[in-house]
Amino acid sequence: MRRIPMDKPVVEIDGDEMARVMWHWVKEKLILPYVDLRVEYYDLHVKVRDETDDRVTVEAAEAIKRHGVGVKCATITPDAERVKEYGLKKAWRSPNATIREVLDGTIFRAPIILRNIVPAVRFWRKPIVVARHAYGDIYAGVGIKFDEPGEAELVYRSVSGREVRVKLPKLEGPGVIQAYHNLDESIRSFARASFKYGLLNKLDVWFAAKDTISKVYDARFKEIFQEVYDAEFREEFERNGLKYEYYLIDDAYARAVRSEGGFVWATKNFDGDVISDLVASAFSGSLALMTSELLSPQGYYLSEAAHGTVRRHYYRWLQGEKTSTNPTGVIFAWTRGLRERGRRDGNSQLVAFAEALEDAVKHTIEEDRIMTQDVARVAEPPINAIVTTEEFIEAVKRNLDRILEKRRILE
Ligand code: NAP
Ligand code: MG
Repeated sequence: MRRIPMDKPVVEIDGDEMARVMWHWVKEKLILPYVDLRVEYYDLHVKVRDETDDRVTVEAAEAIKRHGVGVKCATITPDAERVKEYGLKKAWRSPNATIREVLDGTIFRAPIILRNIVPAVRFWRKPIVVARHAYGDIYAGVGIKFDEPGEAELVYRSVSGREVRVKLPKLEGPGVIQAYHNLDESIRSFARASFKYGLLNKLDVWFAAKDTISKVYDARFKEIFQEVYDAEFREEFERNGLKYEYYLIDDAYARAVRSEGGFVWATKNFDGDVISDLVASAFSGSLALMTSELLSPQGYYLSEAAHGTVRRHYYRWLQGEKTSTNPTGVIFAWTRGLRERGRRDGNSQLVAFAEALEDAVKHTIEEDRIMTQDVARVAEPPINAIVTTEEFIEAVKRNLDRILEKRRILE
């Protein structure tokens, strides 16, 4: 059998625990037999990050800048417990945060839609992709707790010494204060990434905030989104029959529930934190049925599964148990990365392969009704078999072989 050639490599970023185990099974069984895979490999196993003082994480991110496209396995973000468990020098920061920072990227999370998993919202037919702004707001906020009546003022002092002051309402008793910020350039990057993703996936884009109340802060977000859209995207959106809509945040929630889906919802940092979890569980009820793609305004791309390292399953696997961990998110991390590589290089065979593999997964769950435990919990009956990870991968491979032959993709 002739394998599909690749012109340029993808950056492969390895990770931890059960996600790592599945990562290699998927690569060996579902990718390598079909694709003459070219990768630049970075091992972000928590011990390797420790040994390199986390330099490997920055190197992996820099590699994505060179090659454009990366695929990433879930990685441990160490806390005190993990430092002890793995004997680490310290609690290294989240690799995803580091990579996002180097690439200035925005994360897009989308549900994998299956016919036998009915969304909690019955109108939803198409994905709602949540794009979360990952800079500033309450995540970089400061607070004061005060214990008697008083007054408070916000002071901005510029590098050239100009001052702007705003008074808060009179403080009548004990209470709390919070202040936070954002930067035009970060908002602009976020807007660009959101519109780019919409264009790439042929989806409308929504942005929602509360500018009627937050007349400076949210209004600035709204203004920048509109500027970026008008100057850089309007023409192409209109040519593709796509729309950009600004809504008040409460209106957006209501509209989203009444909609049939099929749009990118660009959200401020906190809204995205909440909405992405809500949308994920309302769509599918399993973290493994979710894709996660990072896109930067410069066009750097990274895909991964939305779930973590699935720690509890890993401990059971270490004991010799065959777990029913769902590899769907891991498979889609690979397919999205390969599809993106194929699109950029004009490699239609690689794009077709990636689509065939996604269809093989869907066929396994929807038609064969073979699935892992997490999916069986939320799927509509009948269910033919609840299987282990390896059995699921075998079932997907059978469908993949059939689809590749039917579509003559390897010829
Ligand atoms: P997790 O790996 O997302 O798993 C949480 C729970 O969700 C699992 O225990 C399992 O539930 C279920 N689950 C997640 N993925 C599944 C899959 N593929 N198949 C079946 N069930 C699945 O989160 P965690 O266990 O709380 O975190 C473990 C580590 O992952 C942490 O060290 C964290 O830092 C890291 N993490 C990394 C990323 C990333 O790299 N992007 C993201 C999140 C977390 P049951 O046990 O009930 O079956
Ligand atoms: Mg959240």
